Amino acid sequence: MAIKRGKTMPIRLMKKGAGKGKQRGAQKNNIFAAKAMGEVLKSTLGPRGMDKMLVDPVGDVTITNDGATILRYIDVQHPAAKMMVEAAKTQDTIVGDGTTTVVVLASELLKQAEELLGQDIHPTVLVGGYKKAANMALKVLDQVAWDVDLKDEKTLANVATTSIGSKSIGKARSLLGKMAVEAVGLIAEKRGDRWVVDVDKVQISRKPGGSIGESQLIHGIIVDKEGSHPDMPKRIENAKIALVGSPLEIEKTKMTAEIMVKDPSQMNAFVDEEKSIRQEMVNKIKAAGANVLFCQEGIDLYVRGRLAKAGVLAVFRAPKSGMERIANATGATIVSDLDDLKKGCLGEAGLVEVRALPMSTAEKRTKLIVVEKCRNPKSVAILIRGGLAGFLSEAERALHDALTVVADLYEDSRVVAGGGSLETEVAKRLRAYARKVGGREQLAVEAFAEGLEIVPKTLAANAGMDVINIMVNLRAAHEEPSGLWTGVDVYSGKTADMIKLAVLEPLLVNKQTIKSATEAASMILRIDEILAATKSKAPPMPPGGGMGGMPGGMPP
Ligand code: ADP
Ligand code: MG
Repeated sequence: MAIKRGKTMPIRLMKKGAGKGKQRGAQKNNIFAAKAMGEVLKSTLGPRGMDKMLVDPVGDVTITNDGATILRYIDVQHPAAKMMVEAAKTQDTIVGDGTTTVVVLASELLKQAEELLGQDIHPTVLVGGYKKAANMALKVLDQVAWDVDLKDEKTLANVATTSIGSKSIGKARSLLGKMAVEAVGLIAEKRGDRWVVDVDKVQISRKPGGSIGESQLIHGIIVDKEGSHPDMPKRIENAKIALVGSPLEIEKTKMTAEIMVKDPSQMNAFVDEEKSIRQEMVNKIKAAGANVLFCQEGIDLYVRGRLAKAGVLAVFRAPKSGMERIANATGATIVSDLDDLKKGCLGEAGLVEVRALPMSTAEKRTKLIVVEKCRNPKSVAILIRGGLAGFLSEAERALHDALTVVADLYEDSRVVAGGGSLETEVAKRLRAYARKVGGREQLAVEAFAEGLEIVPKTLAANAGMDVINIMVNLRAAHEEPSGLWTGVDVYSGKTADMIKLAVLEPLLVNKQTIKSATEAASMILRIDEILAATKSKAPPMPPGGGMGGMPGGMPP
């Protein structure tokens, strides 16, 4: 069956006459809601952007500048606003950066569209024009981007630090940037002629105390635990690691049974029996040849003492994720029954060490265990230190962003410069292109160009600069080929060459930003009505039941 339906023909499900008046209403309403999301995020854009304080229902406070995180917190009700949140989420999962820009840009594209809608330009024409403009913009991006060498760690680190430039982590940016580059370099795998990077392979461990400058990259795994007995060794070279999933203690029986003991020797027999069961556990570990033991469950005090005597570093209640990481890194098998513990199950690492890290005061120390020189050299962990817990979370988000942008470069090693330079250049070229497009779509392409300039405008505004002045200077600079990368220097308050300032970004991020923002704006523009489903109050109808009681039915 073929039903031909024009692109623009609305499906009417409302009462007669209800449609027309509502059309503009729904559109206005949607644009308003979507723009509101942009307004919320605008002030956080760029290195001079402000932070948001997020308070959850329990009263916990998060302070962040991360677009995706802010949007996740806001309890958005409006469907159009939800679409903006989705756009930011998509951006976050695909490329990991540019989330704020997507929302700010989409919101500005809608603002520009609103004016044209007011001049009776049909949404379809607008959406068509935006599509042409976005495609042209992507072409320009391809033309101006350049390739970087993945071995050029300095440039890679510049890309990483640019991406975390807006996070309130101060001077730690370059340190985190460098660590991100090194970490990604270690975990990147070459498959055919492509690089595959799974940033989740980098273990990020936060430990409050010390300063962010004491954060470090560890070629191995971190387990946030310490030895389970003071006499256990603190440092074991050539470690043979056993991973046990079951408890090393005598389990209490679930049933209560009474046993009558008639003379003391019987009691002793009981105690001896328990001792020998525990000793048997220690023997099994020794027999397998392990000198390090990570147990996911508890370890009996006696067993711990014996293990300490035997020179085994044993850890109890090790986190499951840690067990899995160690298994991966050292080639160990997690056994759930000690009887299954054989030599072949043990993992190998060059060094397992309990490290004491300084806390805020010199006397206080906090401990953790590192497993280094693992059999699998692709195990990397980054330990983040810092005073406040909130600060640590923001540092972790920053590090995650840094890791993802470096990973983006492994996927596509082309870069562009930021600071609004790219957007200004693309806007200029789009204006020239608009004249070729002609007709009413020309207006949409011009609106798109205007919309892109929201990036330099907002960067300047957030830095407290005179936006009009800056835009005049920027546009003038971009008239010359040498001004291609002139952008907003948010620190000096002038325009400057962004390559000289090393404000570099992956091409992939910027391409995705344009795609996501255009898609979100177009989707919202295409909606002409909002139809809300009524919630059913009555229980589901019994089979064969009449239609009379249909809940939420058509109004009479
Ligand atoms: P997003 O979530 O979109 O990544 P950010 O708050 O990280 O938002 O801001 C990104 C913007 O800030 C980009 O346009 C980027 O080019 C710009 N930017 C980053 N560092 C600098 C800098 N040092 N000078 C000027 N602009 C910068
Ligand atoms: Mg960013």
